[in-house]
Amino acid sequence: MPTTTPLRAGGPALVQERRLVTEIPGPRSRELAARQAVAVARGVSTTMPVFAAAAGGGVVVDVDGNSLIDLGSGIAVTTVGSSAPAVVEAVQAQVAAFTHTCFMITPYEGYVAVAEALNAATPGDHEKRTALFNSGAEGVENAVKIARSFTRRDAVVAFDHAYHGRTNLTMALTAKNQPYKSGFGPFAPEVYRAPVSYPFRDGLDGVTAARRAIATIEKQVGVENLAALVIEPIQGEGGFVVPAPGFLPALVDWCRENGVVFVADEVQTGIARTGTMYASEHEGIVPDLVVTAKGLAGGLPLSAVTGRAEIMDAVHVGGLGGTYGGNPIACAAALATLDTVREEGLVARAAEIGDRVTARLRALQARDPRVGDVRGRGAMLAVELVDPATREPDAALTSAVAVAARAEGVIVLTCGTDGNVLRFLPPLSIPGALLDEALDVLDSAFAAAI
Ligand SMILES: *Cc1c(COP(=O)(O)O)cnc(C)c1O
Repeated sequence: MPTTTPLRAGGPALVQERRLVTEIPGPRSRELAARQAVAVARGVSTTMPVFAAAAGGGVVVDVDGNSLIDLGSGIAVTTVGSSAPAVVEAVQAQVAAFTHTCFMITPYEGYVAVAEALNAATPGDHEKRTALFNSGAEGVENAVKIARSFTRRDAVVAFDHAYHGRTNLTMALTAKNQPYKSGFGPFAPEVYRAPVSYPFRDGLDGVTAARRAIATIEKQVGVENLAALVIEPIQGEGGFVVPAPGFLPALVDWCRENGVVFVADEVQTGIARTGTMYASEHEGIVPDLVVTAKGLAGGLPLSAVTGRAEIMDAVHVGGLGGTYGGNPIACAAALATLDTVREEGLVARAAEIGDRVTARLRALQARDPRVGDVRGRGAMLAVELVDPATREPDAALTSAVAVAARAEGVIVLTCGTDGNVLRFLPPLSIPGALLDEALDVLDSAFAAAI
């Protein structure tokens, strides 16, 4: 018997099963896609032209009544599940009380409570401050503003394969041209790029890879000009690249010795996703500033910059903010999300999902040499697909497997600078049996793709 999860607090249950009742996409989705084509800008594209009607636990139900297994969480956002009961309840109460006052006009407790919670949850027990914004990109931009204000320096270093968002400054920080940057320049100045640690591709140990990055930075930028180093502890869009052990700690040490602000972009990795509250914990690093977003508010838009009090408070009064930053409904959702993570033991659950899925992916790799690498942590896992003889990236195979899995009712995402990585980001509320079934579908998709 499939398990059920409440669709709404006190509302009808959403059956936890994969169920295909039409072809994918079905007729109602196709009608809506036709409306989309003439109403929505074509630059905003969709991975799967299936229109959602409901979502929760580990499934997305579409407008034709198909129930799809969700291995994407709306790109690592619905970590506690879509419409998680505590989130729904908190949002309903807040939306009825007040929707907005603007924290910069008349403040409210929810914002302060989220700041307190993130000051406690982020790595390190030093004194911290938090500022809230709306999107991941806005969070990263503000981290750079704060680092520049503190250091009185201009330059910022990002890494190969980095993804930090789509605003002007974060496009400059992002490595990949298509589809994120092409035609959208000129980009913000004083952004430099250093080589990352990518064990499958460079074979370097972490300390050697860090030495290579530092040499590039010292020669091309100069520490006296460098405000911040911005890095994802595990790269997201760039291919779920996990740096070799020792890489991140060596960079943190170098930043500290040279007065450079170390910014961890934990937008995708934060909030239990990788089997720790923050991915920085796997390497025992304590970033100066941490950016949180995607998984923070159970699907509502909210981002945060949390960091050392002396760095955060270097900014003049009134220098940070925004009309909607820390919206009260998003704050209520974040507090309920953090409660859910704690009460449901979701950090441990992410680690369990990691063990379960990794075992399956390694078994797949053992019989299919096109699976070049299996990597990731917790519920943030990926396979990199290659030509077995040359290890050249195989984007065509990646796309074929993803398309086949989606046709069978499994939402799976791709990533990577070369488009040859399949990534798995299930909601942590997904029942284990559903996860196993999704991996069965994936195995069949690999077997059928030749
Ligand atoms: C998604 C993402 C961003 C951008 O977040 P938005 O909310 O889309 O602006 C920034 N950094 C990382 C690591 C991300 O995964």
